[in-house]
Amino acid sequence: MENPTVRINSSIRPTTLLPSPSRRDAIKALPSSPLFSGNKIFEGYLSYDQRVRLSLARAKALVHAYKLTIDDIANLNQPFWDLHTDPAMAMDTGAGTLVTIQINLAAGTLVKHVRDHPMIAQLVDDVLAFRVLAHYCLTEVAHGLDAINIETTATLLSDGGFDLHSPNPGAAKIMPPTSPCGIPAIGVIFAKLIVKGNDYGIRPFVLPFNDGKSMMPGITAKLMPPREGAPPVYHSITAFNHVRLPAYALLGPVGSKSADRALVRANHISTIWRTAVGGLALGASMIPAIERAGYIAGRYSQRRTVGVPNAPKRIPILSFRTQHAPILVALAQSFVAKEFLKVTLANFKNPDSDLAVRMAWGTILKATLVDHGKIATSVLSSRMGAQGLFAHNEICSLHTSILGLSVAEGDVLGLCIRLVSELLQERYHIPPSTDPTSLLARHEAHLFAENQAILRQVGGHRSADFNNLVLPKSELIVRSIGHRMAYDAAVAAGLDGRITDLYLAAAVKLDGGWYAEHTDFGSARQDAAENAAISAALPFLDAWLERTGVERYCQVPILTDQNWKFFVDGLREYSSAPSPTSSVPYALPTLAKL
Ligand SMILES: Cc1cc2nc3c(=O)[nH]c(=O)nc-3n(C[C@H](O)[C@H](O)[C@H](O)COP(=O)(O)OP(=O)(O)OC[C@H]3O[C@@H](n4cnc5c(N)ncnc54)[C@H](O)[C@@H]3O)c2cc1C
Repeated sequence: MENPTVRINSSIRPTTLLPSPSRRDAIKALPSSPLFSGNKIFEGYLSYDQRVRLSLARAKALVHAYKLTIDDIANLNQPFWDLHTDPAMAMDTGAGTLVTIQINLAAGTLVKHVRDHPMIAQLVDDVLAFRVLAHYCLTEVAHGLDAINIETTATLLSDGGFDLHSPNPGAAKIMPPTSPCGIPAIGVIFAKLIVKGNDYGIRPFVLPFNDGKSMMPGITAKLMPPREGAPPVYHSITAFNHVRLPAYALLGPVGSKSADRALVRANHISTIWRTAVGGLALGASMIPAIERAGYIAGRYSQRRTVGVPNAPKRIPILSFRTQHAPILVALAQSFVAKEFLKVTLANFKNPDSDLAVRMAWGTILKATLVDHGKIATSVLSSRMGAQGLFAHNEICSLHTSILGLSVAEGDVLGLCIRLVSELLQERYHIPPSTDPTSLLARHEAHLFAENQAILRQVGGHRSADFNNLVLPKSELIVRSIGHRMAYDAAVAAGLDGRITDLYLAAAVKLDGGWYAEHTDFGSARQDAAENAAISAALPFLDAWLERTGVERYCQVPILTDQNWKFFVDGLREYSSAPSPTSSVPYALPTLAKL
């Protein structure tokens, strides 16, 4: 199998990159630019189409600010990860979705083939300059997690070109936002290559989809209604009716037929390698999401006061344990996650490491941080009362976005099932804990041993008992590895003990029953440890909020009195027509007729 991160000559750069301002200045300017600030809070009033165009404009602005090179994308350089963890990506997850498809999935697949044909080089140039919107079409209506069984075909023709076709409705591509949105669109599409009636396996092809207004001949896109909660993109169902492609549309060689199932699977994984990169990138994007949720909830909880009996004045809701505890936990998790990400990237990018192990790091990080993100956004939006329900205050819309990110580019459950099954069979090993005596390491080791014993008993990972007993535990097992890795990384990085203690206490609580049953750390001790960790962290809450550095990315209505006034002043207002008399004609019979 080819090495998916083979280095590409860094001298190849897109020719048309925007000049000044510098990359750093442009990135810093994003949150306060009119596109990202302005009337962002009134987006709820916009139509589906207007919101999509806005997210598209923001996606372009992000890509232009970062000016990633082919080298950055091919070799996963730091700017590539900086883009995916930029809080501006979390300010509009619709834009974030378009950016990651454009840069990671589409450009990431194309850059490997930049020397194959001048047209591909030109296309990469256009994609990086965002002159075209790029799509990545793998999933089909009838094939999601089992994408290895996709049915779209590309049949080799006698002139060297291909006939691209969706043989049935289940073979239509689903999710890629291919409906026209004002900018020409191209796409990388995965199809079974058929040569003289033989199936040569799944290959990527590149082709134009639309000119921004109309679809190309033979391609149909059906626009799905918008997702609720998250900023929408034009998720579509896309079908191909005998579309003729030139020879250079095939990315890579024609190759040959293979009957070796292991080889076919290895090739498939290599072909869709950028989804593994994407899974890790989406996992990393949880960091700014958690930080923003923590920041918004923290500042609001300082501002919002309540009257309490016998108190001389109103007190901020932040003073309640139920309020500051989840905020502190979320902040601690985001700080620990940053150290976890550094260690993960070092391992994920290590070309000398087994590819399966590298992918395992990506799965573990995604599963762990998506879970932290889901819990943080769910709990924190609930802690803000009615205000937490509105998308303009962003925490609940972040939660909905995370539900999507959890499925996209490697569904967390699917990834965990595969990883656990392979680890339990010892097909490869992941690095052990630096402190095997720690609570988290013991938790991980015990879950692993317990489920490995089940595997040995039940006669294989395809048995009914494995399905019944181990599959439901797979996410828990992977997260137990992730908690241990994250904690070890944070301790090794010398993170403040108040942060690591709180991370540890919160991680233990996520499977408190196990610790109560298998260690002397029962529920009373768990409560005491959590209480002590929160009490130690509380005096630093303000400093931790500052430390996130996300204030400029969090200008929601409930953040400050000033923001709230601006919001209320800008709301659609309905009032009565001016009346010559001051008395109100309160006519119940009239109301009853309405
Ligand atoms: C926001 C978003 C953007 C996306 N963008 C793109 C894109 O640009 N391009 C693209 O090609 N795709 C895209 N996708 C599609 C994504 O890749 C698929 O949704 C994903 O692979 C899962 O496929 P599915 O939705 O068909 O789920 P299914 O395969 O139908 O699975 C549904 C559920 O069934 C269960 N399940 C399925 N198989 C197994 C199994 N073997 N063992 C145990 N349980 C199982 C799991 O609970 C799983 O969650 C996007 C998805 C989302 C949410």
